[in-house]
Amino acid sequence: MSNMNEDLAGLKFKEIDVLIIGAGGTGLRAAIAAAEQDVSVAIVSKSLLGKAHTVMAEGGVAASYGNVIPEDNWEVHFKDTYKGSGYHGDWRLIEILVKEAPERVLELERWGSVWDRTPEGKILQRNFGGHSYARLVHVGDRTGLEMIRTLEEKVIHHENVELYMEHTITKLLQNDNEIIGAFGFDRNTGEMICFKTKAIILGSGGVGKLFKITSNSLECTGDGIALAFEAGAELVDMEFIQFHPTGTAYPKSAEGLLVTEGVRGEGGILKNNKGERFMFNYIPDKYKDSYAPTEEEANRWKDGDMTARKPPELLTRDVVAQAILDEVKAGRGAPTGGVFLDIASIRSAEYILQKLPSMYHLFHKLAGVNITKEPMQVAPTAHHLMGGVRVKPDDSSSSLTGLFAAGECAGGLHGANRLGGNALADIIVFGARAGTAAAKHAKTISEYSEISEILLKESLEYTLSPFDKANTENPFLLHEELQKVMSEYCIIRTKDGLETALDKLTQLKARIMRAKADGGRKYNPSWHVSLDLRNLIHCALFAVNPAIKREESRGGHMRSDFPEANPNLQEVLYVIKKDTTGEIEIIEEENEPISAELKEMIDRLPVPPT
Ligand code: FAD
Repeated sequence: MSNMNEDLAGLKFKEIDVLIIGAGGTGLRAAIAAAEQDVSVAIVSKSLLGKAHTVMAEGGVAASYGNVIPEDNWEVHFKDTYKGSGYHGDWRLIEILVKEAPERVLELERWGSVWDRTPEGKILQRNFGGHSYARLVHVGDRTGLEMIRTLEEKVIHHENVELYMEHTITKLLQNDNEIIGAFGFDRNTGEMICFKTKAIILGSGGVGKLFKITSNSLECTGDGIALAFEAGAELVDMEFIQFHPTGTAYPKSAEGLLVTEGVRGEGGILKNNKGERFMFNYIPDKYKDSYAPTEEEANRWKDGDMTARKPPELLTRDVVAQAILDEVKAGRGAPTGGVFLDIASIRSAEYILQKLPSMYHLFHKLAGVNITKEPMQVAPTAHHLMGGVRVKPDDSSSSLTGLFAAGECAGGLHGANRLGGNALADIIVFGARAGTAAAKHAKTISEYSEISEILLKESLEYTLSPFDKANTENPFLLHEELQKVMSEYCIIRTKDGLETALDKLTQLKARIMRAKADGGRKYNPSWHVSLDLRNLIHCALFAVNPAIKREESRGGHMRSDFPEANPNLQEVLYVIKKDTTGEIEIIEEENEPISAELKEMIDRLPVPPT
């Protein structure tokens, strides 16, 4: 290990009113909002600015302008989102999202985002799964890039905001129930740093790296969620993980990379190895009225008549992913284990190149497949974590004083299943809210709290423990083992499988604590992965424990031993907390019942298209 005294003596301290962990859309939008309140703000990010996972977002951001279908409005967006969440999403969060998304998107336009346009010059909107109307604002299939570019431009010119790129936070520091700082290190130099803060916002993203086949970037290791749990915050909905139906299945070198839902939004159809368009066989009763087009309607829709009933390929992601897995299981899959996604026979090459340029390049460069002429091979890929830190709807505050969370690391909004486009809306709506609320909270505190030497020593020891000479385990192999367990038992789930997973994960956890960092502290991947693994194993256990309890299938939680949704579990929340021994405690609670006003509204709305 290191010389502890030397490390403590050399420790850098920074005093920052609002510390933001994450430079994705959430962190950047939160920073702008906080800085506007005239407090000091710092953003810490594991990677360079511009590389956060948000940059990979492709299809679009949901905001109900009604530019393509005038009937669209926040009410229909609310109904779609609540229904898509398996009627399990927190309706108070959903209401805020759908009402505020249009203004947040326009604000991005004022700051420089250049969205695709309709022929009359309005913001163009595209179809996406589970949305009744064409609703997703987009820039081809590079929407996340445009959003990150715009937000970054704004952030770097704000004098109140400091950036700490390539820094990792390893501990949140607290006095009892109150957050007072964070501890971390500079990945380039290996130097330790301690932030004294009045408020912290987690914008640290999801946990896709739990699975072997995933659309997520290297950074998605659930750090913020694990840090919040360790500090004593509550988590919610952790059993709900979304498997996007269309990840790349061929070539294997690009396995799991996302094939945007925009392909199906632009008319792409799914076929099995018999050439059958199988999604017609998988339309759930609750969607029969809106997703079972006749051939004539399907043709009208393809020709741009978006009032026709939608193709079943645009059912919600949970439904489409399950259908693909069923086709493959029945022996009707593509040679690579997935199914075929065909846009070539639906749209012209010119149209595909204009609307889906990244998809064209992805398949052309990596697989030698020309998607304007031949189908892609696709299979479900781990994509989005619906659960996360439990937050209050109005201000994104957690159960700990001074700790806020938004974006993919916060839970509740998407319930059991997220609709495409709602994550990008989430990060700008709740990023902004969290930024304002955290800054206001910081202003109520006059002095920074002193951080005790014991706390500093503990944090330092924890951060450097992978260098302990007694450690023997290879972190990269452990990561593979973890992904194997999660992929085998936690996609399609059964009681036995989940219990086996729990057993294996418990054993793995002990080994992960002995993961070994080789070499020095400067940009050392074995050190970084050893620390990432501790967060990942936490999140794996947060997912598996409530998944055993939830004896039903709902959204991303697919139990083959309980294939139907159980109405008695619709409102049940499994809230996760650290108990007095440091282990996971699950508290069963009920969602607050939907307000009478909103209930009346969704009952009144017709199932579109009328
Ligand atoms: P992220 O963008 O993941 O940012 C997390 C940040 O936290 C990073 O800067 C990271 O470095 C930092 N961080 C994490 N841990 C630490 C730590 N310990 N210390 C310091 N920093 C840390 N959604 C849509 O709505 N529409 C789409 O079209 C769409 N397309 C997608 C396409 C792909 C391929 C993928 C994978 C997702 C897509 N999504 C889409 C989902 C959406 O992109 C994400 O949910 C969203 O961008 C998450 O943003 P975030 O700001 O919460 O986190």
